[in-house]
Amino acid sequence: MSNHILEPLFNPRSIAIFGASNRENSVGGQVLQNVLKSGYEGTVLPINPKHEELLGLKAFPDLKATETTPDLAVIATPAPTVPNILQQCGQSGVRSAVILTAGFREVGNAGKRLEQQVLDIAHTYGIRFIGPNCVGIMSPHIGLNATFSRNQGIPGNIALVSQSGAICTAILDWAEANSIGFSRVISTGIAADTDFGEVLDYLVQDTKTDSILLYIEGLHESRNFMSALRKASRVKPVIAIKAGRHAAGSKAAMSHTGALVGMDDVFDAALRRAGVVRVLTTTQLFDAARILTSRRRAHGGRLAIITNAGGPGVLATDLAADRHIEMAELSQQTLDRLNEVLPATWPKANPIDIIGDAGPDRYRQALEICLEAPEIDGVLVVLTPQAMTDPHTVAEAMVQLDPKKPLITCWMGESLVESSRDLFSKHHIPTYTSPEAAIEAFSYLATHHANQKLLRQTAEAMPLEETPDVERAQMIIEGALQERRKVLTEMESKALLSAFRIPITPTMTAHSAQEALLLASELGFPVVLKVHSQEISHKSDVGGVKLNLKTAQEVRSAYNEILENVKRFRPEAKIDGVSVQPMAMLPHTRELMIGVLRDDVFGPVISFGGGGTAVEVFRDRAVSLPPLNQKLAEDLIAQTKVARMLKQFRNFPEADVETLKQVLCRVSEMVCELPWIEEMDINPLMLGSDGVRAVDARVVVRSFVESHRYSHMAIHPYPAHYAKDWQLTDGTLVHIRPIRPEDAELEREFVNSLSEQAKLFRFGQTFKQISASMLERFTQIDYDTEMAFIALIRNGKEVEIGVVRYIIQPDGRSCEFGLAIADEWQGRGVGHKLMSELMAAAKERGLQHMIGEVRSDNYPMLKLMESLEFSIRNHPEDPAIRLVERQVSRG
Ligand code: ADP
Ligand code: MG
Repeated sequence: MSNHILEPLFNPRSIAIFGASNRENSVGGQVLQNVLKSGYEGTVLPINPKHEELLGLKAFPDLKATETTPDLAVIATPAPTVPNILQQCGQSGVRSAVILTAGFREVGNAGKRLEQQVLDIAHTYGIRFIGPNCVGIMSPHIGLNATFSRNQGIPGNIALVSQSGAICTAILDWAEANSIGFSRVISTGIAADTDFGEVLDYLVQDTKTDSILLYIEGLHESRNFMSALRKASRVKPVIAIKAGRHAAGSKAAMSHTGALVGMDDVFDAALRRAGVVRVLTTTQLFDAARILTSRRRAHGGRLAIITNAGGPGVLATDLAADRHIEMAELSQQTLDRLNEVLPATWPKANPIDIIGDAGPDRYRQALEICLEAPEIDGVLVVLTPQAMTDPHTVAEAMVQLDPKKPLITCWMGESLVESSRDLFSKHHIPTYTSPEAAIEAFSYLATHHANQKLLRQTAEAMPLEETPDVERAQMIIEGALQERRKVLTEMESKALLSAFRIPITPTMTAHSAQEALLLASELGFPVVLKVHSQEISHKSDVGGVKLNLKTAQEVRSAYNEILENVKRFRPEAKIDGVSVQPMAMLPHTRELMIGVLRDDVFGPVISFGGGGTAVEVFRDRAVSLPPLNQKLAEDLIAQTKVARMLKQFRNFPEADVETLKQVLCRVSEMVCELPWIEEMDINPLMLGSDGVRAVDARVVVRSFVESHRYSHMAIHPYPAHYAKDWQLTDGTLVHIRPIRPEDAELEREFVNSLSEQAKLFRFGQTFKQISASMLERFTQIDYDTEMAFIALIRNGKEVEIGVVRYIIQPDGRSCEFGLAIADEWQGRGVGHKLMSELMAAAKERGLQHMIGEVRSDNYPMLKLMESLEFSIRNHPEDPAIRLVERQVSRG
């Protein structure tokens, strides 16, 4: 049993059912029946004051009468009675509940108040609950079916989490018919208490769960969700379907970006960044479930197809190309081996056409060879029932193998292949009716594998001389906000960009034709004139932009024309002047657009695509959540149509993509460091073959007070500002910085090199090699809830000599810390320094106190704790352990 806070919910030893009855069509009646039918072995306590016995079980008038404390309370009584029941539960020590009852926030204000009452009681007693307004939960492995679904759910390895109860029951019904089993089924209802994030957190460590299916309708909060999703998809495939793809944007947008990027784009970007595979239809979700029933995961995306007919092979290959699935290139060895078992006429390439007369033996031999070939990551076996083929005997040959990589089958046809499909299902070999569905299913596994790379990305710190002038940017924004302006002028917007080292065309404002001429002389011809008005967001629409003005005469008439045009098209608009800027003349320019938008749930998002005055027509955009680094920026660019125009085409040499990636990273830094940004358009960003220039920019800001640094973001950026150099008294230079996923090797060497005793002191156990999952947990951290600093020295190569970390506790105010120093570096002040840095970070994060456990015989550590003014006391249960504690800031 794990000690996860939700464990009693999913693995209760006893349950009380409030509202249990013998009426079959009542919720409480159905739940009681389900619990009895599903073979739950724990104790079942029906609670209903109107009955003494229900379905053969003794019933109790209330919880007290049971004289026990059940692990789980299932509540199916009318809404107004729920607070009272929960109170009873709290008083008798019940800490987990599932509330099936409807009639809370979804029915309006009275319901909202009732919900708050329930929440308050839960908080008072520390009760965690699922629901209300949900179908319930299932843990088929222990025969627990605490739902009112008509289906039982068979044990399996997939966890299903659904916001919709109806979808939940529909999936269960389909799954039962297709022998697909579940580890857990969770209908979250309105998730008043336990949300998606926490459920996912449980499923990550749940050994019964190999993969996760999510049905999402909407989210209120993104931080928990994102960090739990990212954690989950690092270890298990997560496949999600999201309802409401075409829901309209939430607010009237003041920018191009706002008009182009919808809520669903943002959701899509979030899922992608979290490494989640998204499907669009329930059929796809079912197909995904089917492939997940097999425990085999792809370790690459290269597919081999074995078929007894050419047509389906070609179809499948086409589809694989559409889905970006690589067809495995067969090695000479594989070809040689196949030549030995296949008729001479086989095409000697992938798809591996084993010819129409193939029987079970040939199928089996070809499959064995593919399963052993290192250049193949997954195999699709296709069979079309031909005159000489007996589908069932071939299927029997297939199920005898124990594949170590994904094996997918597709027996085409209907009545002739029905028994084969049943056989595959029974053996948990994913089987599909069409090659298309089979290919798509493999793409889910391949995508999960490919996602791992994106998941390990952290945004890197910029080189020092490139550090943005955050203070300057902040002052520009404050200035505007003080004037009660939300829309920054082109000049202000560009000043912001330039504070973050994004190249711009310098811009000044003229209030007369004469002044425009002087500014043009100052800036150098040719110039561009644009109307400068708070009230005009798309300047060329009103004839407010004049390009490439080469002479004094041209500037003068352009100035007057702009004023005339604007007066004609927008007579009511107040004109603040005309801005003058150099004409950007980069050779081989591509016009691009970078945008920023703030989503209510996911915070800032960055979009990229083709730019210019017609962006709304082409609608070419891709969206990503910050923080970005070079790799993520590359991934963002690659998703657009304009990406192809950045390569060499016609007489255009390749565009300066490296610089473009840098600009995207700097925009990402802007949104990390400037939480005031509400929307931003850089349109166009002129990208040449050598260099880049932002020629138009528009930033919309909001007043905002941060609760702590980066609290406005869904993904906490790499906290580069903690990096520093420090000297030991003997002059040794030590570099201290937050840990990163790339540090896995450093950390492995460090931990493995610790002495037995040091390991015992730090981990409470000894081991030879740190496990892969431990290493992942140590280096891939969520900087919002955890912090770890490593101390490095240069000794030919970088060597880690110490690490310190804290993890925020569920109360959100305190954190538990751990410290480890390499044996030969102990007693030299490294521990003291790392602890001081960690304490400062905890304080900055707004935490109140730090706690830790130190072994009683770890004298150096206890001494260090004393010198850092930690209080030290005995552990209440374990004499071998001291508890150390210290305030870091006053609440
Ligand atoms: P708006 O988007 O408000 O209509 P812009 O400032 O983006 O106005 O100008 C419209 C178009 O004029 C741009 O898409 C770009 O093609 C061109 N342009 C604007 N400023 C410059 C400049 N400084 N150098 C070269 N071209 C420019
Ligand atoms: Mg523009």
